[in-house]
Amino acid sequence: MDKSSTIGVVVEHDHNKIKPVTYEVLNAARNLPGLVSAYYFSNGGEGNLESLIEGGADEVRVFLHPDLVHYTHETYAAALIKEIKKSQPEIILLSASNNGKELAAAVATSLEVGLATDCIDLQLSEAGEIIVKRPVFSGKAHSIFRLSGPRPYLVTLRPNIFRGEGADKTRSGKVFKEDIDLPDFSDIVRGLVREVGTKLDITEARIIVSGGLGMQAPENFKILEDLADVLGGAVAASRPVVDNGWQEYSQQVGQTGRTVSPDLYIACGISGAVQHLAGMSSSRCIIAINSDPHAAIFSIADYGIVGDALKIVPLLTNEFKNILNS
Ligand SMILES: Cc1cc2nc3c(=O)[nH]c(=O)nc-3n(C[C@H](O)[C@H](O)[C@H](O)COP(=O)(O)OP(=O)(O)OC[C@H]3O[C@@H](n4cnc5c(N)ncnc54)[C@H](O)[C@@H]3O)c2cc1C
Repeated sequence: MDKSSTIGVVVEHDHNKIKPVTYEVLNAARNLPGLVSAYYFSNGGEGNLESLIEGGADEVRVFLHPDLVHYTHETYAAALIKEIKKSQPEIILLSASNNGKELAAAVATSLEVGLATDCIDLQLSEAGEIIVKRPVFSGKAHSIFRLSGPRPYLVTLRPNIFRGEGADKTRSGKVFKEDIDLPDFSDIVRGLVREVGTKLDITEARIIVSGGLGMQAPENFKILEDLADVLGGAVAASRPVVDNGWQEYSQQVGQTGRTVSPDLYIACGISGAVQHLAGMSSSRCIIAINSDPHAAIFSIADYGIVGDALKIVPLLTNEFKNILNS
C-alpha cells in the first residue's frame, strides 16, 4: 500500500444523519497512505458531506438510486461492489456495527476477498503491508494479521476505538455525485419493515447502563432507562434477561450478543460471567452494582458498589441529574 492507493470508507447514515462511527472509520483511514474516498449511498438526500472531508475524506462519492432509500445489505453490497470494480481500492473500511459487519461479509463473500472483522488496531508495516489486531477467545487474547491476497481487503473497525482528534476544518476535498444502476431490488426495498424507534444502538453508545437478572423483573428496567436518559446513554442487558424476554436481543452484550466499548459501562445486577465479560471488558470505565461482594464483575470493575441495584440506581439518577443541571 502506498500514496497511490485508494482507501474506501463506507459512510453509515440514518436518513442522511451521518452516524458518529463513520468519523471514527475516517479517522483510521486518514492514518494510512493514499486517497481516502468516502462512499455515500443515498436515494437523493444527503447529509453533511463537508463534515466527511473535515473528518478525513479526500473525496466523497455520492451514489444515488431510489432503492438506496435505507440500508439493506443487498442494495448496498450491489452498489459497493460496482464501485470497487470501477475504482479498484486497496482496502475498504467499515464500522463493525451491525450494518457494517453484514455489508462487509456480503461483499467479501461475493468478491471472494479477505475480511478482518472487529479490528481494534490498524497499522502499516515498513514494507507497506496492512496489519490489523483483533480480539479473539472472547477478548482474552489478541491476534495480529498481515493482510495479503486479492484486493480489496475488507476491514471492520470496532466502534469507540478509533476516535482521534475530531474534525479538521482546514481540510479540503471534492464531492462527486452519480446516479447508478442496480439490479431490481424493489421487492426487497418495499417489503422491508424498518424498526421504528429512536433507541441508541448499544455498539455506538458512549455510555451504557446494563441490567442482569439481579434487576429481578422486567418492569425494573425502567430505572435503568431513567439513568440512561439522564446520561444520554443506552440500555443493555445480559443474556438471561434477553432469554426471559425482558429486553430485546439487539441489547444483549456478550459472547453470543454484541461487543461494546463505551466510555462508561454501568453493570447493574450482573454477576460477571466470562460470556458477559467477553462483550464489555474493553469498556473504558466499568462501574458494577451488585449485592454480592464476591460477584466476579467486581474483578474487572473500576468502581464497585455493593448493594441493592433497585435502590442505588435511582439515587445515582437523581445525583447525576443534579450535577448535570447545576
Ligand atoms: C455458550 C454460552 C454463551 C453465552 N453468552 C452470553 C452472552 O452473550 N451474554 C451474557 O450476558 N451471558 C451469556 N451467557 C450466560 C452466562 O454464562 C451467564 O449465565 C449470564 O451472563 C448471567 O447473567 P446475569 O449476570 O444477568 O445473571 P446471574 O448470573 O444470575 O447474576 C445476577 C447477579 O445479580 C446480583 N443481584 C441479585 N439481586 C440484586 C440486587 N437487588 N441488586 C444488585 N445485584 C443483585 C447477584 O448477586 C448476581 O451476581 C452464555 C452462556 C453460554 C453457555
